[in-house]
Amino acid sequence: MFTDSHCHLADAAFAGCLPQILHQARQAGIHRFIVPAAEAADWPAVYALSEASPDILGALGIHPWFAEQAESGCIEKLSRQLQRQPEMWIGEIGLDYHRSRSEEDRAKQRDLLSQQLAIARQLNRPVILHNLRSSNDLLALLKQHGIRRGIVHAFSGSLEEAEAFIQQGLLIGIGSLLLNPTAKKARRAAAELPLSSLVLETDSPFMLANSTNTPANLRDIAAIAAELRGISLSELAQQTEKNIDSLLTVNR
Ligand SMILES: [Zn+2]
Repeated sequence: MFTDSHCHLADAAFAGCLPQILHQARQAGIHRFIVPAAEAADWPAVYALSEASPDILGALGIHPWFAEQAESGCIEKLSRQLQRQPEMWIGEIGLDYHRSRSEEDRAKQRDLLSQQLAIARQLNRPVILHNLRSSNDLLALLKQHGIRRGIVHAFSGSLEEAEAFIQQGLLIGIGSLLLNPTAKKARRAAAELPLSSLVLETDSPFMLANSTNTPANLRDIAAIAAELRGISLSELAQQTEKNIDSLLTVNR
């Protein structure tokens, strides 16, 4: 049994077909789904999903791609909503310096992230982090806010970067990049990082060039990760589940 630690099940790509998508995934041995929001407009749908299914765990937050249009007052709204919903995590939040080239935009991302990390610290919730070419600044902000519980998702950096996040207490999410045989860094991370710090994800519906990614694909990702590490699928399942469970302390 596996957890898809990052799937955007509230995305419009799954409108109308989510029951089948979940059924297929459960048939493939995926028994838990962590579903982040991208922007405030997603929060009701993510919350509704997590309320409807005990195997769906939701996270609320504002993704760095939406830093630009985030409305004033959204941070207060996030804080209020999370206080009412103690089982929700915070995500997807983070930095994306690949997308934002200007220092002004990057500063906006850091400001939005910083405010959300402050809430994570105050309410003691795990965070789901997006990080693209921004590891140094992301780590600095995590340290500044004393954040030690969460997942750096879709990891694509160097082993050294991964180890710095692990030192900070975070888990590393590895996923659909493994389906691409030329994604060397991701494969190296999957093969060499400590098993006690790895979790698996699809990032559905994204990441596949010609089709809609779905959580059922986690089975293939797990098979590749197990092969790269030279361990059995059940050993991989057992440890990655334990890693997710370690984040599930009561969020009060
Ligand atoms: Zn995502």
